[in-house]
Amino acid sequence: MTDSDLDSLFLRIIAGEIPADVVHDGERVLAIRDINPQATTHVLVVPKTRYRNAAELAAAEPDLLAELVRVASDIAEREGIAESGYRLLFNTNADAGQTIFHVHLHLLGGEPLGGLTGGPLKG
Ligand code: AMP
Repeated sequence: MTDSDLDSLFLRIIAGEIPADVVHDGERVLAIRDINPQATTHVLVVPKTRYRNAAELAAAEPDLLAELVRVASDIAEREGIAESGYRLLFNTNADAGQTIFHVHLHLLGGEPLGGLTGGPLKG
């Protein structure tokens, strides 16, 4: 896969050109199950407008950033992991392991998660 394929992957999923396991499809936000789950529950919450990372999203549309968190917490409730606990995570750039440069919030849970912050996503 080339960089531009990865760049446009979520836009192609949002457009329905690539199949995904969709858990939420709202006006501004799509949530799909991660194809390579790092925990029992691993969902990606994606704004339908593309920003490269969380900082760009926060600067441009802070209410949309808040909506990502709301959608993730609603999904956590629905998956029955809100009480037991879950982790919300944004990767930014290479050292964090960001591979898709269209901001997405990882929702991880359903089991005890290792590490202080990014244990289960460590490469
Ligand atoms: P990041 O490393 O933070 O950029 O996260 C990208 C995530 O997208 C990884 O956890 C991948 O497993 C996931 N991913 C890649 N391709 C797909 C796909 N077609 N459908 C669902 N998740 C994907």
